[in-house]
Amino acid sequence: MTPLETYVVVVAGIFGLVIGSFLNVVAYRVPAGVSLLRESRCPNCDAPVKPWHNVPVISWLALRGRCASCATPIAVRYPIVEAISGVVFALVTWWVLGGGAGVAAGWALATLVTAYLYLAAISIVLTLIDLDTRRLPNAIVLPSYIVGALLLTLASVLSGDWGALARAGVGAAGLYAFYFLLRLVRPDGMGGGDVKLAGVIGLYLGYVGWGALAVGAFAAFVWGGVFGIALILARRAGRKTAIPFGPWMIAGAWTGIFTGEAIARWYLGLFVTV
Ligand SMILES: [Zn+2]
Repeated sequence: MTPLETYVVVVAGIFGLVIGSFLNVVAYRVPAGVSLLRESRCPNCDAPVKPWHNVPVISWLALRGRCASCATPIAVRYPIVEAISGVVFALVTWWVLGGGAGVAAGWALATLVTAYLYLAAISIVLTLIDLDTRRLPNAIVLPSYIVGALLLTLASVLSGDWGALARAGVGAAGLYAFYFLLRLVRPDGMGGGDVKLAGVIGLYLGYVGWGALAVGAFAAFVWGGVFGIALILARRAGRKTAIPFGPWMIAGAWTGIFTGEAIARWYLGLFVTV
């Protein structure tokens, strides 16, 4: 990495900490139907959260995990989500700068960074909401088609890589159709939210490449299956326990994004001498 790239990755990580703080608010308020614009208050004593109590991770540590006015414990989940967001934003930026989403420079590269950081943000917030409520809200999933398609189209306009955009279209339609059929076959195994999220994931996977699309689609079922078996072995779940599938679709998507192209090259290399 050049010094400039290192600097951009570090700034992206700090930006991720701040976004993580916002994602905590989104994950808490969107399912509850509360406006995102209202100021934050302590759920116990209703004291407004002061700006210097809103610094990601650091404020929680400085306050020792308690409200500044009434000392009610603040869930450790908040600083953990902030820290994860920071790490994920740095990692995704590093991956895009390295050409992971396609070789690009200048504004095309900046647009790709934005596009995949947006996917990172909704990945985190949808995972939290699905684990909390077993739902993937339309208010987050549906606008993601527009945001994702606009950013990836802009990236292709700037880079001239129309092949990537065509793959993204095929990926979105293909993965949506696949989950739609799965839901027809087994309506109890798959939620409508999963089908809608599949299109967004297919869009982003397709833009990276066919290998990413194939591995990303497949990996969701591997992660979900491994976790399901682990739960049954740990006797925490029976065969019929409903486990939300959204987090595994998202884990699969990032597996495909980060490793899909390399795995596909290796796999095809077993049969074809390149
Ligand atoms: Zn309080």
